[in-house]
Amino acid sequence: MKGYAGKLLRVNLSSGKVADEPLPEPVILDFIAGLGFGIKYLYDELPPHIDPLGEQNKLLLVPGLLAGTQAQGVARWLACTKSPLTGLFARSCCGGDFGAWMKFAGYDGIIIEGKAEKPVYLYIGADGVQFKDAAGLWGKDTTYTQEWLNQQHGKDVRAACIGLAGEKLVKYAAIVTGRRTASRCGVGTVMGSKLLKAVAIKAKRNVNLYDPEGFGELVKEQIEIMRASDAYRKNREYGTTDGAVSCNTFGVYPVRNYRWSEMEGYQELSPEAYKKLEVGDFGCYSCSVRCGKIHVVPDGPYAGARSEGPEYESYWAFTGPIDNNNIGSTIAADQLCDDLGLDSISAGNTIGFAYELYEKGIITRDDTDGLELTYGNHAAMISLIKKIGRREGFGDVLAEGTLRAAKHIGKGAEAYAMQVKGLEMAGYEPRGLKGTGFGYATNTMGGAHTNGTLMFQEWGVPMPRAVDRFSEEDKADILIFNQHNDSGVEVGVACFFAFLCGDWYQRLFGRMLEAAAGIKEFADRGYLDRVSERIWNLERAFNVREGFDRTHDTLPQRFQTEPLHTLKAEGEGQVLRKLDQFLDEYYKLRGWTDMGIPSREKLQELSLGYVVKDVEPFLTKK
Ligand code: SF4
Repeated sequence: MKGYAGKLLRVNLSSGKVADEPLPEPVILDFIAGLGFGIKYLYDELPPHIDPLGEQNKLLLVPGLLAGTQAQGVARWLACTKSPLTGLFARSCCGGDFGAWMKFAGYDGIIIEGKAEKPVYLYIGADGVQFKDAAGLWGKDTTYTQEWLNQQHGKDVRAACIGLAGEKLVKYAAIVTGRRTASRCGVGTVMGSKLLKAVAIKAKRNVNLYDPEGFGELVKEQIEIMRASDAYRKNREYGTTDGAVSCNTFGVYPVRNYRWSEMEGYQELSPEAYKKLEVGDFGCYSCSVRCGKIHVVPDGPYAGARSEGPEYESYWAFTGPIDNNNIGSTIAADQLCDDLGLDSISAGNTIGFAYELYEKGIITRDDTDGLELTYGNHAAMISLIKKIGRREGFGDVLAEGTLRAAKHIGKGAEAYAMQVKGLEMAGYEPRGLKGTGFGYATNTMGGAHTNGTLMFQEWGVPMPRAVDRFSEEDKADILIFNQHNDSGVEVGVACFFAFLCGDWYQRLFGRMLEAAAGIKEFADRGYLDRVSERIWNLERAFNVREGFDRTHDTLPQRFQTEPLHTLKAEGEGQVLRKLDQFLDEYYKLRGWTDMGIPSREKLQELSLGYVVKDVEPFLTKK
C-alpha cells in the first residue's frame, strides 16, 4: 500500500492493550484519510448518548494522506472525539510536525480508548508503544512537558500534550504540540479525562509514495503557484496579524460580546505594530509560508511575555469581546492559553460574556472574586484566563463555557451566551457576513469558523462566485459547496492558509493524492466531492443520533433581533431575519427532511445505507 502507512494504532488505556490494525481498503476508498477516518471510526464505534468524559469515549488523532511528504502545508492533523462542550462530533485541526511524525511512526491514525488508572504518557519509538508514568508531569504546563519529553527521549521527539486545563477538565481544553493547538470543542478535555498527559513520537523520516517522481513534479508546481500569490507573500511576512485592520475596516470585528462590529483604537493591533514585536517565525512541517510569528513584549505590564502568535482569531478573542486594544496583553494571554492548554476562542468569548453580565449587573464583584470586569480591563482578563485554566473561584464557572455558565448563573444570563450548539464563535460578525452566520448555524460542530463558512465569497473572492454579504438569499448552494470543499481539504489535511495561496488546491490536490496513493479516483474532482458529502452526512447522522435537528441549527437571538452597530463601516442596523427560509432551502438541496435529518435516499446514494437504521426513528419527526 503506497502513500498510506497501512495501519492504525489502537491503544486501550484501561486494559493496557496496544494493537496495530490494518486499514481496510473500503474505508480508504470511501473516506480517503484524515477527517474521513475520524468520523468513520467514531460513528461506527461510539454508541449514542455516552458521556464524553467517560471511559467509553474515544479520541482519534489522525494525519492526512499527504503528511510527511514534501508537499507544502499538508502536514496538519486532527483530533476527533465526541465533544464534552457540545455533545456533538468534534474535529479540531492542528499544525506543527506531529501529523508527519504519526505517519513516520507508521500510522494513519491513533485511536485512544478507555481510561488509565493514573496519569500516563504514551511513548512511540523504535521498541514499539510504551505506557510511561506521567506523575511527574501532571500539573505541569505544555512548555515544560514538551521540554521534559525532549530531554528524556531526544530532541527529535514530537509530542502532543495537555496542560492544566485538560487535567482540570475545563470544557474547552486544547491539545498542544510545539506552540500549535488543536483547540476547539474540548479535545484536550477528553485527553485529560483519560489521564493521558501526552503522546510522544520518535521516528525516522520516511515517505512511501506510489509515484515519487510525479509527486515531486506536482510539488514543484505547487510551490511555484503558492510563491506567485499575494496571500503567500502576505502570510509569510505578517502571518494573520492583518485581521484586526481588515475586519474592522469591513465592519465585521465583533466587539463587546457581539454588540458592535468595529473597535475604537484597533490600529494599535495593526500588522506593523505586531511586526515591531516580532523576534522570529515558525513553519509547520514542510511549509515555506512560515506564518507563525513569534512575538515578545519588550516593556510595560506584560514585559517578557512571548508567544508564537497570536493568530487572528486568538488576538480577536483577547480584544474584541472586552473592548481592549492593548497589544501586550494579547501576547501574554496567548502564551497563557498555550501553556495551560486552553482554547483561546472559547476562553475569550466566555470572558466577554462575563464582562457583559457585569455591565448589566447580573454578576457583581462578589461573584468575580473581586475582579472589576469593566471594558478595556485587560489585567482582569489575564486573571480570568489563569483562574479558568486552574478552575479557581469564578474561573470554575467560566470553565464550563458560555452555555453552561449561563445556566449556572441564571437571572437571564442565557441571552448573553454567544454560542451555537454550545460552541463559541470566532471573530467574524454574522450580521455583517450573513452567509457565514448560516455557516455557524448549520456547522456539524456548532459555531466553528474553519469549515463551511462563506467568509471569502462574502469578502468578494469569486470561489466560484462572490456573494453579497448582506443578502440572505441564494446562499445555500454555495455554503454547501464550501462545506464539502472544507471536508475535502481535511482529508489532506491541508492548511487553510496554504490553501489560500493561489489555486494549487483546485488544480493539484487531487492529483497529489493520486500520485501519493496510486488510486486514480482521487484525482477526480467529482469523486472527492462525493467523499466530502459522505463525510458531512455522516457527521450530521452522528449528531442526529444524539438528538440534534433543525431546532439546534440556530443562532443567538442577538443576531436575529438586535440591529448591528458599526462606527464607519457599512452594515449599521443589519439584522439576520431569514434563517428559517435559509434552512428550508439548505435542507432541500442537501436531500434532508424538513427537520434536517439525512433522508434514506440520500444516505443510500452516498453508500451510507448502514446508517439508515440509526436515523430512521427521527425521519418522521416534525
Ligand atoms: S501556512 Fe502557516 S499554519 Fe499553515 S501549514 Fe504553513 S506554517 Fe503551518
